[in-house]
Amino acid sequence: MAGSGARLWPRRGRAPVEGVPPSTGTRSGGRAPALVRWLGFALDAVLPPHCLTCDAPVDVQGSLCGACFATLSFVTAPHCARCGVPFPHAGTGPLCPACEGRPPAFEAARAALRYDAGARRLILPFKHADRTEIAGPLARHMAHAGAALLARAEVVVPVPLHCRRLLSRRYNQAALLSGWLARQAGLPHLPDLLRWSRPTPPLGERGAAERAALLDGAFAVSRRGAARVAGRRVLLVDDVMTSGATAESCARALLAAGAGAVDVLAAARVPDPRLEAPR
Ligand SMILES: [Zn+2]
Ligand SMILES: [Zn+2]
Repeated sequence: MAGSGARLWPRRGRAPVEGVPPSTGTRSGGRAPALVRWLGFALDAVLPPHCLTCDAPVDVQGSLCGACFATLSFVTAPHCARCGVPFPHAGTGPLCPACEGRPPAFEAARAALRYDAGARRLILPFKHADRTEIAGPLARHMAHAGAALLARAEVVVPVPLHCRRLLSRRYNQAALLSGWLARQAGLPHLPDLLRWSRPTPPLGERGAAERAALLDGAFAVSRRGAARVAGRRVLLVDDVMTSGATAESCARALLAAGAGAVDVLAAARVPDPRLEAPR
């Protein structure tokens, strides 16, 4: 099982996912400079590649070993047609109860992974331990899960990093993902478009209703930024989508600024415990 199915990065020169061109490090498609390829092979020879989340050797830098790959759960059907929350079994839907009761401001949300123990082994080091090299492998899966959303997007915008956390962390992990996706899709990337309009307390273990209340009106778009999204379909990118309250609040801010529509793409999605419990 440690073969091609375990790859988060494809072999050099192969298209990583349907509809997204291979990453060659240049804008010129397949004309990756020979020197870059040679340096890649030389680096692999000196520092043999190992799994992103353990010490097991792998064929390609930036991939997972078979055992670690097997711990990942991808979000597949059935899921809510609107917010993308996974359904525990078939026969539910097409919409989850939350979307039935109150449709979100965004049109559709999708995520690559279920946010479980396997996903946390990738996402927590990415968020908190400067493991920025995990952005590419995660974004490749996002490009696959959100291929339809990327195909109709006109501009890509990350959820902003909270100013309080920006002090302790040097980078916005959502912007690393959105930058990768925008580059691969050839779309404009606006990493500074959305801003927090006021401080909010840590969301921690708070429930969906409390999160929604705390985040209501918490994001803003500058007047100058508004001109860049006016009438355009925005793809909003985040690392983890929990209750959807952040995506909802960002989508409202974008629509209020004049965006034509908003879709959401996340690396991982926290399953709704209210859907998971009853069997
Ligand atoms: Zn591993
Ligand atoms: Zn839903």
